[in-house]
Order: sequence, then structure tokens, then C-alpha cells
Amino acid sequence: MSQKCYKCYRPLSTCFCPHIHPVDTGVKFVILMHPWEAYKQKTGTGRLTSLSLIDSEIIIDQHFDGNNRYKELLDSDDYYPMVLYPGSEAMTAAECDFPVRGKGKKLLVFLVDATWIMARKMVYKTPSLQTLPRLSFTASYTSQFHIKRQPAEYCLSTIESTYYLIKELQDAGLSDSSVSVQGLMDVFALMNKIQMDHKKNRNI
Ligand SMILES: [Zn+2]
Repeated sequence: MSQKCYKCYRPLSTCFCPHIHPVDTGVKFVILMHPWEAYKQKTGTGRLTSLSLIDSEIIIDQHFDGNNRYKELLDSDDYYPMVLYPGSEAMTAAECDFPVRGKGKKLLVFLVDATWIMARKMVYKTPSLQTLPRLSFTASYTSQFHIKRQPAEYCLSTIESTYYLIKELQDAGLSDSSVSVQGLMDVFALMNKIQMDHKKNRNI
């Protein structure tokens, strides 16, 4: 097995780190990652998302109410936690109540990083996540992800979801709009290209 970069978990020959220029969006992002996504999924984008954002971290677990770091963040007075997850009561960035209820706190967005079915299970088994205010998108975006087949076109990869969410948060004045998050899409495009090249070479 080829050696891996300890930061981006890519093989050293295609390490992404030189292409990642982390930015500070003014929002904290916490990626709740399923162990399968963390250790088995070669084309997962959660790690690249975290490496691209200065105030972000990854917590790996199957469910989180028993996870100490998760609980610490949830109980902290420093943050106003929300979760990016669909649902009838989900609010767009423009509608969300953070400006009223989150006064003096930093917005913290939990991102659930797993396949769609695993993500549902993770939320189901983490009752506290179900009670958090939910964020959703204004528009429906189509995934540019060619590597793995998404169960449906609207299923965005984690790095794409984060990119679009930050754009909407910026438009709503909830994230620093002077910061460019194009780097997230650039690193994602690069990942796509490497995977496509890899596939082509295998088929020759
Ligand atoms: Zn690397």
C-alpha cells in the first residue's frame, strides 16, 4: 500500500495539501463523520473541507450524544449550534434565527458527513441533533461530483454543500463576505480530475 499524507489522507503522490489555502469564514464548522467515511471512503471530501476552513474540526463517531467533544461544543456558551440537514422546519441562512438568538456567540454549523442512509441513522441515533435548529439551502444545487454515484443528483458532497452554505451565509451577512471560498471548489475540481485520470489510466 502506498504511503499516505497524514493530513489529507491522500497517497503522498497526490497529496492535496499544497493546493489547500485555508480561509477563516467567521463561522465554526464541525464535521460529524461516520467511521466508514473516515477510514474506508477514498473519495470522501470531509477532510478536505476541514483542511480548507480555519475554524473547523472533525469528530468521528456513529452517533454523538455519548461523544465528549460533541457534548462539549454543544454545551459551550461560546457557540450557537445549528445543523445543515433537510427537514420541513429547516431554515435558509436568510431566515435563520441566529442573528436574534445567537447574540454574542459564534455560529457553529454541524455537517453530517456520511452516505445518505448512514447520515439518517446518525441523526436518528443522536436525539440532541434532532432538536438543533436546521439550516437548508435557498436554491437546489446539482452535484459536480463524477467520482462516485450519488443516490440522487441533489446529494452534494460535503465540500460542495459547505461551499454553497457559506455562500448563502455570506449573502445573509452571517459569514465574512470578504473571504473567498472558491478554494473549496478548486480543491474539489482537482480531486475530480485526479480520480478521472486514475480511472482512464486503469482502462487503457
Ligand atoms: Zn496532504
